[in-house]
Amino acid sequence: MTAKRIDGKAAAQAIRERVAAFVPEFERKTGRAPGLATVLVGEDPASAVYVRSKNRATAEAGMVSFAHNLPDTTSEDELLQLVITLNADERVDGILVQLPLPKQINATRVIETIDPGKDVDGFHPMNAGRLATGLPSLVPCTPFGCLYLLKAELGSLAGLEAVVIGRSNIVGKPMAQLLIGESATVTVAHSRTRDLAATVRRADIVVAAVGRAEMIRGDWIKPRAIVIDVGINRVATDDGKGRLVGDVAFEEAAAVAGAITPVPGGVGPMTIAMLMRNTLVAAHRRAGLADPEGL
Ligand code: NAP
Repeated sequence: MTAKRIDGKAAAQAIRERVAAFVPEFERKTGRAPGLATVLVGEDPASAVYVRSKNRATAEAGMVSFAHNLPDTTSEDELLQLVITLNADERVDGILVQLPLPKQINATRVIETIDPGKDVDGFHPMNAGRLATGLPSLVPCTPFGCLYLLKAELGSLAGLEAVVIGRSNIVGKPMAQLLIGESATVTVAHSRTRDLAATVRRADIVVAAVGRAEMIRGDWIKPRAIVIDVGINRVATDDGKGRLVGDVAFEEAAAVAGAITPVPGGVGPMTIAMLMRNTLVAAHRRAGLADPEGL
């Protein structure tokens, strides 16, 4: 391995500590701590783990967490009613509805019902549009975390060739917008891209958000490129426990790249750190306070 291994866990911990340091001052000014409401519908084990980690991180930062666990038989109307109640709850600064939702619920309708000022996932079309037009917004946590790691590694991204693989609303598209905002030259690849390998070979920055285990091979990577692997894929192992791998073939890519995020321990922890950051920022904006500096 020649590439530097980017330590997302350490970067995330530093952000969470910085968030926590702002909380006492916020409490002094407003008489309450920032609050995050999480909503989990059903019993998907991976979603339950994510939501528990988010609630734990909220408490560790000195913020208040309101956990709502609903059965998988919950109707769309019931969920919308809960969101409307949380929108009106003054103690709640951020609302996170864990995706995916059961099939009887239209996720778009739920996202559109969240108050954009409390949309700490940054998925509301209002926040997506503001990001695309370069206005202050709440930015989706995963791509925001990726950008943080890239800037920590590279400083300025201006003029660099960036290839984002994946065009989802939660990762690929906002990632592309953030990179454009940093003056990178951005290509968004997806399942219909012709000759993906050749496209990726041009990139100084590769962000992989596909959801296919180790699809991106070492010989696709330009020497010294920075590789950010968003993918989380469970693959079978002989002991039956399974193992998490990214969208990038790590060992192969690490032999060529300048720096690379591991899976786990790369982008994953950054997502939660940025959720804490977004909750703190949403709380400040709702209270009419300036954004906390340096976050
Ligand atoms: P998604 O909504 O399924 O989107 C996947 C994207 O990959 C789509 O745009 C799809 O193209 C593209 N794609 C699929 N097969 C491809 C191929 N053979 N070649 C090129 N592109 C291909 O997934 P997502 O929600 O963005 O998540 C992507 C990955 O990131 C998943 O592994 C997910 O678990 C992980 N993730 C991690 C975090 C974290 O905190 N680390 C957060 C969110 C997601 P089309 O649009 O053409 O179908």
